[in-house]
Amino acid sequence: MLLGQIKRVFSKPGHSQSRPVFDGSLALDSRDAGRSDDAVGNEAAFDRRVVEIANPRGRAPVVLVCEHASHHIPDAYENLGLPEADRLAHAVWDPGAECLARAMSGLLDAPVVLGRVSRLVHDCNRPAATHEASPEQVERIAVPGNRDLTEAEREARARAVYFPFHAALADLIAEKGPAMALVTVHSFSPTWHGEPRSSEIGLLHDADDQLARVMHKGITVSNRVELNQPYSAADGVTHTLARHADRVQASVMIEVRNDLLSAANSANDIAGALSNALSEALTTKAFTP
Ligand SMILES: [Zn+2]
Repeated sequence: MLLGQIKRVFSKPGHSQSRPVFDGSLALDSRDAGRSDDAVGNEAAFDRRVVEIANPRGRAPVVLVCEHASHHIPDAYENLGLPEADRLAHAVWDPGAECLARAMSGLLDAPVVLGRVSRLVHDCNRPAATHEASPEQVERIAVPGNRDLTEAEREARARAVYFPFHAALADLIAEKGPAMALVTVHSFSPTWHGEPRSSEIGLLHDADDQLARVMHKGITVSNRVELNQPYSAADGVTHTLARHADRVQASVMIEVRNDLLSAANSANDIAGALSNALSEALTTKAFTP
C-alpha cells in the first residue's frame, strides 16, 4: 500500500546511480515499433542514447518523467536549420526541467526517465510520427528541418526516439508494479506570443484528476499554482500520462514557469515544495488501494 511504501522509502538513503538505456543502435530495434527496411530514413543520425534513467532503483512508489530534458539535436540534422538565436529556445527543450526532475528524484528517492534528444526531432509527449511530434513552427520559431517531412521520415524518427523512450518507461513501470504514481515534469515560457503568463506552477491531468487536485491544495511555495494551466489535456499535452494510464494508480503533469528555475534557490524551493506535496498527496486515503 502506498502509505506504507512512502513511509519506508523516506527512511532510506537515496541512490544516485544512473543507467543508460537504449543507445542509438538499440533504438533502431525498438520492441513495440516494429521496423520496415524500406523506411529507415536517417535513423543512423542518432549518435548517442535517446533515453536515460537516473536513480533507477529509487524506492518511492513514483516514476518521474522529463520528456523535454535535452536540447541535443544529432549532428546529421544540422540543428534542424535553426538560427543560433533559437538554438536553446524553449521550443527546443524545457529549460530547467531536468534539474527540477533530478532534484525531485533525489528528494523523493524516485527514478527519473529523461529524454536525451530535443523534442523538435521527435516529441515524446506527442503521438508517434505525427505533425505535432516534429512541428514545422512553434510560436514564433520556424523549424526548417521539419518542413515537408515524409511519412517515412516521421516514422523513422519515431522508431529512433519515441518508441525506445516509451519502451524504457513502460519497463520501469512494470518493474515497480501498478501501485505507483506517474509524474511528468516540464517547464513553460514566461510569455506566449508576447503575452505574459500569470501562472507560476501548473498541475495538469489527463482522465484521472485526483492527484492533481490533491497536490493543488498542498503547494505553498507560490500563490499562483493553478490546475490545467497554462494549457490542458485538451491541447494534447498529456500524451505520456494517457499512454501509460492503465499501468499506474495515479498520474499528474507538473509545469513550472522556466524563469523560476533559473535561480538555484528558487529552483530548490520549488523542488522541495513539489516533492512534499506529492509525497503528502500519496499518503492520503484517496491513493490507498
Ligand atoms: Zn515540456
